[in-house]
Amino acid sequence: MKIPFSTFGPMHEKMRDEMLEAFTKVYDKGWFIQGSECSEFEKEFAAYCGRSHCIGCATGLDAIYLALKAMGIGEGDEVICPSNTFIATVLAVSYTGAKPVLVEPDELTYNMCGKGLKEALSEKTKAVIAVHLYGQTAEMDEILDFVKANDLKLIEDCAQAHGATYKGKKAGSFGDAAAFSFYPGKNLGALGDGGAVLTDDEELAKRIRALGNYGSVAKYDHQYKGTNSRLDEMQAAFLRVKLKSLDEMNAFRNKVAMRFLTEIKNDKIKLPVVGENRTHVWHIFAVMTDDKKALKEYLDKNGIGYNEHYPIPIHKQGAYLYDKLGSFPFAEYISASELSLPMYYGMSDEEVSYIIDVLNKF
Ligand SMILES: *Cc1c(COP(=O)(O)O)cnc(C)c1O
Repeated sequence: MKIPFSTFGPMHEKMRDEMLEAFTKVYDKGWFIQGSECSEFEKEFAAYCGRSHCIGCATGLDAIYLALKAMGIGEGDEVICPSNTFIATVLAVSYTGAKPVLVEPDELTYNMCGKGLKEALSEKTKAVIAVHLYGQTAEMDEILDFVKANDLKLIEDCAQAHGATYKGKKAGSFGDAAAFSFYPGKNLGALGDGGAVLTDDEELAKRIRALGNYGSVAKYDHQYKGTNSRLDEMQAAFLRVKLKSLDEMNAFRNKVAMRFLTEIKNDKIKLPVVGENRTHVWHIFAVMTDDKKALKEYLDKNGIGYNEHYPIPIHKQGAYLYDKLGSFPFAEYISASELSLPMYYGMSDEEVSYIIDVLNKF
């Protein structure tokens, strides 16, 4: 049997007619930027996450950057980020001119927690970016206590956690702002790049919208040196279709994950742990192994796709080599040990059984 790490096939087949309809609607209307598809999607996604404002933008990276920028964060400031995340989280901080300060994650959930935050704090600290990595939220109570006690801004990086919950509240409903990516492979993905920022703060929302539209507050009235980062009508129309089945897609992933969790029994493979009080949307099913090289070869031989999130930690990336971010042994452990198993809507029971069987024989 051959199983890819991921495929859009079954999802696209299921949505085919509605997606083509969405395309036709925008195509025939002939209005491609800043129209009703984007504003309707913004309303629907804000409601889905339980927030007052949603501002569509071009990418998840831009969503984080625009939120930081709108908060006035820049040169001379520090922003606390997890040591184990996709590089975009940290790049967004660098783009503002601020300095990223990394902290190690919780050793069971691999997500940011209260640990290390106090040590990372300085008089320059302005904000914390909590990443909801792999599809479950960070330890929100501990992080919220810390940002409140120290009068800091909180930005959630929700690029991997569309629909995840913590104590019954959606990822994206905790921070002063929350950033989402709609990169095609995310749990809610466009057919190209896309992103959004959520907030309850009306003034912040206005600044974010202006910053993503050349800094303009009204047509040709430019209050800020903004950029061009907008969610186009075509992507917004596709996202409106896909948002309707996000919960169903996440439930499917959860069903697969539950089988992996209960049926994979191998001392050489450490399974993921879901933290207390939360629901996981399994953007990534991350397992740890002490012999990644052997496991990769074994999966190759057995026709099972996989991925690594992420093989080089940020502080070891060439781009950050001269930034002296510090030493992060747990992030290095994750990079050395993590493999992501196949996880996508439409995997058959036979495929899931095959993966389990192969892994149990490793
Ligand atoms: C995908 C991702 C981003 C960046 O999103 P893009 O839309 O690709 O710019 C940011 N943070 C995390 C954790 C991600 O997984």
